[in-house]
Amino acid sequence: MKPKRKIQTDLIHAGEEEKVDHSVVFPIFQSATFVSQDESAYEDIRYLRLNNSPNHRVLNAKIASVCCGEAAVVTSSGMAAISATLLSLLKTGDHVLVQNCLYGGTHSLFVEDLPDFGISVDFIDGNRPESWAAKIREKTRVIFVETMTNPLLEVADLEAIVVFAHNHGLIAVVDNTFGTPINYRPLDHGYDVEIHSATKYLNGHSDIVAGCIISTHERIERIVRRLNHIGPTLDPHACFLLQRGLKTLALRVHHQNTSAQALSEKLLQHEKVARVHYAGLPAHPQHRRAGRLFSGFGGVLSFELREGLDAAGKLMSLVQIPTSAPSLGGVETLITRPAITSHAGLTDAQCQALGISQGLIRVAVGIESVDDLLADFELALSKL
Ligand SMILES: *Cc1c(COP(=O)(O)O)cnc(C)c1O
Repeated sequence: MKPKRKIQTDLIHAGEEEKVDHSVVFPIFQSATFVSQDESAYEDIRYLRLNNSPNHRVLNAKIASVCCGEAAVVTSSGMAAISATLLSLLKTGDHVLVQNCLYGGTHSLFVEDLPDFGISVDFIDGNRPESWAAKIREKTRVIFVETMTNPLLEVADLEAIVVFAHNHGLIAVVDNTFGTPINYRPLDHGYDVEIHSATKYLNGHSDIVAGCIISTHERIERIVRRLNHIGPTLDPHACFLLQRGLKTLALRVHHQNTSAQALSEKLLQHEKVARVHYAGLPAHPQHRRAGRLFSGFGGVLSFELREGLDAAGKLMSLVQIPTSAPSLGGVETLITRPAITSHAGLTDAQCQALGISQGLIRVAVGIESVDDLLADFELALSKL
């Protein structure tokens, strides 16, 4: 067996050992179908929707290696990865425990869609392990959490989740989009299934929508069968772009970790800033846990101004470098107000209950010069 290489090396080379026609870069196979080789099983037919094109094979192998999993599969969006996983692991009558502060699309899937298939859901507070056991039912099969919550960057008791899951025979699933495999390796910490919205850090350039799932051979095989029937396959060109984006993941995330830390510290010291949410700050409620589990605190932070709502709107228009847009994980810095974007579907009271004030601003830092970014925020704050 080859020695396990470091993630920086795997990002470049894993899955790509075999060169096609001496091409250094793995090419795009823009073909919906492939010549029959007397395949006997449906899954073995070479057809693009069946997730077995050369672009899929190489990219899936790379992602599995990077995340230290046995197998992986890419999907046409992060939501496709999440829904296909849940529809593979759960069936009518089953019950699932989910963290109470999830990405909006995932939350909607749990409360609007899964109940239509007879799958019931209960919410848990990721930081109160003593309250979880009371929610277990005979048919509880899965526990679903995120590495860090959006937009307050809270860190659930991720270690207790694994212990609890395995004590109760549950499958532990984590959406590691905010963690990235650079900062956190859930499978090494006992999680059974790791999911990403590859739209974000893995691709890193805000130019495709994609997702991926990493787990054991057996579980990925089961998920792929379901994916093949539902149909959210990533197209070969998007596979190519994701594969290219992945090569710089380590460089980008290291830069983003450093910039987000510097921006958090700078904002915290500013007299016009009331609060900063970032796990890299010692005052963050789960700073010690995050420091123990993660090798970096990520590229997303959020903050509130003392002046509140009006000042927040003004600041958004005063900053020059950040672009006002949803999403995160790209090379460009993006800025949003969650109360009017990702959490717009919630009432004021619901937002307040989650700790999301109307004036809360979220920043997803890119890879611009950190000096320029800090100066830009400094100038914008001085004009308020
Ligand atoms: C964006 C995001 C998703 C959904 O991913 P899409 O690629 O937009 O489908 C899921 N989870 C988290 C944490 C996200 O940030």
